[in-house]
Amino acid sequence: MSQCRGVSSDSPQAESSVPRGPGGPAPIPAVHVVLIGPPGSGKGTQAVRLAERYGIPHISTGDILRSAVRAGSELGRQVADIMTKGLLVGDDLMTDLVRARLKEPDVSRGFVLDGYPRTVGQAETLDGMIGAERMIVLLIDVADSEIVRRMGTRRVCDSCRLTQSVADPFHPTSEPCPYCGGNLVRRPDDEPETVRRRLATYAQYALPVIEHYRKRPTFAVVDGAQHADNVMAGMTAHIDSVRAKT
Ligand code: AMP
Repeated sequence: MSQCRGVSSDSPQAESSVPRGPGGPAPIPAVHVVLIGPPGSGKGTQAVRLAERYGIPHISTGDILRSAVRAGSELGRQVADIMTKGLLVGDDLMTDLVRARLKEPDVSRGFVLDGYPRTVGQAETLDGMIGAERMIVLLIDVADSEIVRRMGTRRVCDSCRLTQSVADPFHPTSEPCPYCGGNLVRRPDDEPETVRRRLATYAQYALPVIEHYRKRPTFAVVDGAQHADNVMAGMTAHIDSVRAKT
């Protein structure tokens, strides 16, 4: 992993709302984590764990769009077809969506951003919104062959919405969600043809995004083929070492 430069805490956004004052508690710097990696690399799972550990919200652009599609909102109607085809939603729409989300009060202590940025344009916009120095960017690296294997067995419960891995072969009628008994279904964008397109889209757009971040001291690559606990340990070691230098 790369060596890390400190995360600046001299702007109001970088601090929590803990009051500063003589003898009062020192302000806790906000944690701005950006997770990048191919679909199926475990970003979502790790983002949930990071959010819990640091007490910050998990912001998944894919989840926001999928719930808009399920709700049949105007946004959902605009993006449904693009998502089913495994293509990227336009930068302007995505940026408006993320800009609005980052203005919510729960973001004052930071966030784990999962699924954004996907293009260099989005990365540049995010630098402008947050400040390049304040972002800790983690790339979860996983080979395509492993992604295809994982996504073939990925299901989501249509009731509690938990994402799970099922045995191969999977028998949907006799294998309900072990947590709530709901039906385990494949996400429409996990259909094999869509997965292939999503990986092709990732290959096309991700490299320039990675290059955008690679030279930053707060950037690190974590091997996503490891056990999930080790991926988490690698990520938190990096985040904590960046924070220790602030
Ligand atoms: P994800 O769950 O992050 O893999 O996102 C699912 C789908 O939502 C992607 O395949 C894209 O169609 C769309 N999407 C999510 N985030 C973005 C983004 N930052 N830019 C463009 N499209 C996105």
